[in-house]
Amino acid sequence: MAKVEEIFGTMVFNDFTMKQRLPKETFKAFKKSVSEGKPVARDIANVVANAMKDWAVEKGATHFTHWFQPMTGITAEKHDSFISPLDNGRVIMEFSGKELIKGEPDASSFPSGGLRATFEARGYTAWDPTSYAFIKENTLCIPTVFCSYGGEVLDKKTPLLRSMDVINVQALRILRLFGNNDVTHVTTTVGPEQEYFLVDKELYKKRKDLRFTGRTLFGAKPPKGQELDDHYFGAILPRVTEFMADLDEELWKLGILAKTEHNEVAPAQHELAPIFTNTNMSCDHNQLTMELMKKVADRHGLVCLLHEKPFAEVNGSGKHINWSLATDNGLNLLDPGRTPSENAQFLLFLCAVIKGVDEYQDMLRAVVATAGNDHRLGANEAPPAVISMFIGEELMDILESIEKGTVYKDRVASHMEIGVDTLPLFRRDTTDRNRTSPFAFTGNKFEFRMLGSSQSIAGPNIVLNTIVAEELEQFADVLEGAGDFKETLNGLIRKTISEHKRIIFNGNGYEDAWLEEAARRGLSNYRTTPDAMPHYVDAKNIALFTKHKVFTEVEMRSRCEVHLENYCKVIRIEALTMAEMVRKDIIPAAYTYLKRLSETAVAVKTACPELDCAMEINMLKYLRTLTDSLYVNINRLEGILTEAEECGSAEDAALYYRDKVLPVMGELRSAADEIERFVGEKYWPYPTYGELLYSV
Ligand code: ADP
Ligand code: MG
Repeated sequence: MAKVEEIFGTMVFNDFTMKQRLPKETFKAFKKSVSEGKPVARDIANVVANAMKDWAVEKGATHFTHWFQPMTGITAEKHDSFISPLDNGRVIMEFSGKELIKGEPDASSFPSGGLRATFEARGYTAWDPTSYAFIKENTLCIPTVFCSYGGEVLDKKTPLLRSMDVINVQALRILRLFGNNDVTHVTTTVGPEQEYFLVDKELYKKRKDLRFTGRTLFGAKPPKGQELDDHYFGAILPRVTEFMADLDEELWKLGILAKTEHNEVAPAQHELAPIFTNTNMSCDHNQLTMELMKKVADRHGLVCLLHEKPFAEVNGSGKHINWSLATDNGLNLLDPGRTPSENAQFLLFLCAVIKGVDEYQDMLRAVVATAGNDHRLGANEAPPAVISMFIGEELMDILESIEKGTVYKDRVASHMEIGVDTLPLFRRDTTDRNRTSPFAFTGNKFEFRMLGSSQSIAGPNIVLNTIVAEELEQFADVLEGAGDFKETLNGLIRKTISEHKRIIFNGNGYEDAWLEEAARRGLSNYRTTPDAMPHYVDAKNIALFTKHKVFTEVEMRSRCEVHLENYCKVIRIEALTMAEMVRKDIIPAAYTYLKRLSETAVAVKTACPELDCAMEINMLKYLRTLTDSLYVNINRLEGILTEAEECGSAEDAALYYRDKVLPVMGELRSAADEIERFVGEKYWPYPTYGELLYSV
């Protein structure tokens, strides 16, 4: 492999390349529009487009695409070639500023929650110059936003960019109050840790459930799961090492800061974490990372499973979002700092996060609600469905002594005056207990741990940015009008701690005692998607997002609908896949074995009439009971699925799938898994958990 420094970012049209390839004035003008958030002028765009095309063609690209992130959560692209005909029957490679700036994919089949039906049928894509263009498989990819002609947002990038603007404006107001006049821009920073499974491709192909749904719908527990904890951070197997090295190289070429790769808790489970960057790039990079994980795995005879729960009985996969705020001059606003003023500013930002998470816990919960993630949250392998924050015992003590005006431990001062006294040093809590918290402060950033592994990171980032912006705005409104800044600040911090500390919980989130305590505190506990998702459109949430112009009410309602419909569709596909496997594979396998058993019984009886064949008969009866149960439940399931079509609203349908469809799927599974345990290996129609989990 070439040197990392040499390959890093070679497939990205980044500042370094732009500087080399654009006239100085053009580069300056381009960067100026980007940093001011203004549209790039057409003449500048023309020059940029041409330079981009030359660069891409030199690297072997023949096509370009507007690369966007529709509500499906994955990325979409429509490829156009650069060719333009000449009179003499030949072609030249062309790419104009117009083509760079705007595209019109025929995108009417993307989910829109009815948005395009009521407005304009088509959508358009528009260049996002704040994220670099890149080359992927001979195609120049231009990151874009995706909107309808009526102006409705149809993607995940537009609201993310809007939320970043909103928090920038409000964070700057706060910084000015603390005399930070050098900062001109605040951005949110994110580093997403991505979990995934790798299984052998040949085995994968033999499992319809994995192919159609991304997870196993059947599978008896293997003799060995994750109980020995011998996979976590264990030595990485050669085939996986090769995969990881190849993946790193692909990611580095795309300028993605892939940093750590290790084994996770479950067998066949791994994790990749990049170095953090601004939220927009981080989101683009995470989408690319997921895509490349799948592609690179394929080259290695593997399949990368990004589903939240590919296997029952072992841990599923999530995504941890490390989130903070950074200034353009390099300050991390969630770093407590060392001086009283830095401490005070930190406490105010911390309070904004605490208040925001408490007031909008339901919104944070709703954005991680999917059929896949329902298998993890609250199942003692990922945080519970209750949103809470972990800040560590020591920081908690400090906050409480601030709130009550009491002495913190053995400090001499009567009580701490914010902005005058320095915060006592508190250690970054490294206990493993905080792994059970949905949202943990880890010393200079928060780690949000509820997101599912296959989801876009945009959702929780949009929510975090907007809720914290809202609280910062409220704080700035109070503080800007304050007669005595320090006194008002002290009061504000005390008040916020006292009113919102119920959201802070430093204990073990996996214990039932916490769920009881959370209920006492009035925290919401929405266990499943149909419980959580409707809160997406609670009046206060609509008020928040429309106030900050991140979403319109119509957009929010349509998104809620898209997510609920997706929940139903996912479960429906799973149920249909189960039905097919039961009818076509499992019942036939059970019958073959039954026949074998009956023949054996007859043969034994013939050979030795004095034997009663009790064992064979018992086995036969047991297997018959199980296949009967399969048969009854498959018919029930099919009936229930037909009736599902009569559900009225998306909300009703989601409840129906949860309450009627999922339980029957559970019964089918337990009968099939019992049959799997019972019949001889060579009769079984698909690879077992043991084979899949230890296939690589
Ligand atoms: P760990 O969580 O294992 O202790 P780190 O704290 O070093 O590891 O980092 C985990 C992730 O958090 C990485 O992706 C890292 O880049 C990211 N991260 C670190 N600092 C920040 C920050 N200020 N903002 C956002 N992400 C960060
Ligand atoms: Mg971590």
